[in-house]
Amino acid sequence: EAVSDWYCEAKQVKGAMLHSLDYFKTEMNYFIHQSTTDPLTKLMNRRSMDDYMKEWIENQTPFSMIILDIDKFKRVNDTYGHAVGDEVLIYLANLMQQTVRKDDICCRYGGEEFVILLPKADKVRAFLTAESLREKLESTVSPCGEVVTISSGVAAYPVHADHPARLIELADRCLYEAKRTGRNRTVVVSDEPQQK
Ligand code: GH3
Ligand code: MG
Ligand code: MG
Repeated sequence: EAVSDWYCEAKQVKGAMLHSLDYFKTEMNYFIHQSTTDPLTKLMNRRSMDDYMKEWIENQTPFSMIILDIDKFKRVNDTYGHAVGDEVLIYLANLMQQTVRKDDICCRYGGEEFVILLPKADKVRAFLTAESLREKLESTVSPCGEVVTISSGVAAYPVHADHPARLIELADRCLYEAKRTGRNRTVVVSDEPQQK
């Protein structure tokens, strides 16, 4: 009698514990998703971008980076409104996901600026990926009813920079160069020694 009572209670406690463990797993996954993802585009956010780079650097995994920015996006917002602008951002984000390889990481870096991290990819493969995305965008009509284009900058770790901040700086400089020289272009860091 006493033993079976005890057994019954233990079984209930075990059941309750497993149930709450399930509950916390669900909660935990939700918070992890929230803290790593951009809510509008569902791409990785800047925090996860930094985490990926940190991990790859610790594991001595080379990688390349594409920074891309929508050309004349202010005009899209001004002409069609902010909500349509948001649709264009989602559209681009989906196109990015469709263009990259399985292990590549697509991030929303800022408002209309995005980063693609390509582990084990040299600058040539990163360039080809950026060009493939650029060409897809150029040859389709975006949700605003017009073609929108992007400009990109490409840099590779550790060939061009030995630190993420420096890599971003170099890729960003290339992006700026792509804008300056006409937009709808991809510019790669040159292999000449970089100026500080
Ligand atoms: P450029 O070719 O030089 O990049 O020109 P641009 O107009 O794209 O550049 P600019 O930096 O002047 O404008 C960026 C615009 O992106 C301004 C801002 O209203 C818009 N933007 C930033 N974040 C968001 C967002 O989350 N949603 C929408 N709809 N627009 C955004
Ligand atoms: Mg911008
Ligand atoms: Mg822009």
